[in-house]
Amino acid sequence: MTRLPVMEHFATIQGEGKYSGHAAYFIRLGGCDVGCTWCDVKESWDAHMHPSYTIEEIVSWVSDNIEIVVVTGGEPLLYSLDQLTTALHLAGKRTHIETSGSAPISGTWDWICLSPKKFKLPLPSLYAAADELKVIVYNTHDLKWAKQLENQVSSKAQLLLQAEWSKREAMYPLITTFILDHPHWQISVQTHKYMNIP
Ligand code: SF4
Repeated sequence: MTRLPVMEHFATIQGEGKYSGHAAYFIRLGGCDVGCTWCDVKESWDAHMHPSYTIEEIVSWVSDNIEIVVVTGGEPLLYSLDQLTTALHLAGKRTHIETSGSAPISGTWDWICLSPKKFKLPLPSLYAAADELKVIVYNTHDLKWAKQLENQVSSKAQLLLQAEWSKREAMYPLITTFILDHPHWQISVQTHKYMNIP
């Protein structure tokens, strides 16, 4: 029976990206081998620190009245997620994933947020699958990198820039200038952090 390590799970408002503002149930899987220096969930990295649960247990947590389930991490694609997304769809949920794209895709997703990391680049197949390209802006080079990444995703992908939280005051003016020069990009603001909710 498939079991997945879960660091935390909770109902909240999606704070980032295209679905910002929507009610969502988050399932944060443990385990990540990407190693971003500025990671704000480093406690997720060691999968063995987190208890494992069956697919049935995980799906049972999701609030009946919340349609969107966001699977995040850590790096959730370290695991086969086929059974999880099948069970979530059977329960009538939309399946969303937030991934660095560093591991092969599994599962059937209604929304794929690809957030590439320089520390371990996405696999080519993830660029094609992305519904949303979310580039974290930690320094000025990340804006140049965003323009390169833009050429690798499909034309359907939403293009989003999101300041790394600790650098946001310095990065917001640079992101603003970038978007005024490249209006097909949009900003993603971490509204849940301003609201002080998970
Ligand atoms: Fe942290 Fe995500 Fe980077 Fe993994 S990919 S180190 S969880 S920011």
